Amino acid sequence: MSRSDDLLEFADTVKGFMPRDEGLALYRGALEHAGGDAGGTWLEVGAWCGKSAVYLGAAAEQNNAVLYSLDHHHGSEENQEGWEHFDYTLVDPVDGRLNTLPTWQRTIAEAALESTVIGLVGPSLVVAAHFAQPLDILFIDGGHGAEIAWADYEAWTPKVVVGGLLMIHDVFVNPVDGGRPPYEIYLAALESGTFVDLASEGSLRVLTRVG
Ligand code: SAH
Ligand code: MG
Repeated sequence: MSRSDDLLEFADTVKGFMPRDEGLALYRGALEHAGGDAGGTWLEVGAWCGKSAVYLGAAAEQNNAVLYSLDHHHGSEENQEGWEHFDYTLVDPVDGRLNTLPTWQRTIAEAALESTVIGLVGPSLVVAAHFAQPLDILFIDGGHGAEIAWADYEAWTPKVVVGGLLMIHDVFVNPVDGGRPPYEIYLAALESGTFVDLASEGSLRVLTRVG
């Protein structure tokens, strides 16, 4: 098996909320976009346990790109105790808080992607305010509440270079399937005239910057 087959198979085993077909679309979108354009800077907002980082990292490795994988690692609202996506095995027994950083680190180490996928630990907006490097690929999959989703959109999308990719996860056209903010920021990206649609798979949208 090739290195990329190994990584894509491994990604399947990592905890998370990324269906395989969407993960493969993430991988292929990044790979096709980067083709020949080595050394890019990519960033994902929302790392969790590293599943999407393995899909994107598999493509980054082939392009000598670096993927920054950003998270405060304490989970979103729906990951907390009493909510739909709570996983008690991710609670730190020392302070009782959800902490996905050790799992994320083990994932990236096991995938042997430690020189390709670099963790950024902290609140998305604080990092964005101090992050000046233009992005060739941006994947938004952080907090899905209206306030943070819009703030991520406003803080991070201007950093995408013309010709670069913007990928957004959990875009649900039908409100029955999930919350609105990711869908709303997707629409805003299109309506801004700055981004156009390239591809979609499930709730993943792939756009490119045109202006
Ligand atoms: N992309 C991951 C899943 C991310 S889940 C995958 O597919 O595998 C969403 C993540 O966003 C959670 O881990 C949560 O901790 C993080 N998050 C939510 N709000 C955040 C914020 N304001 N700053 C940093 N991370 C945030
Ligand atoms: Mg998601």
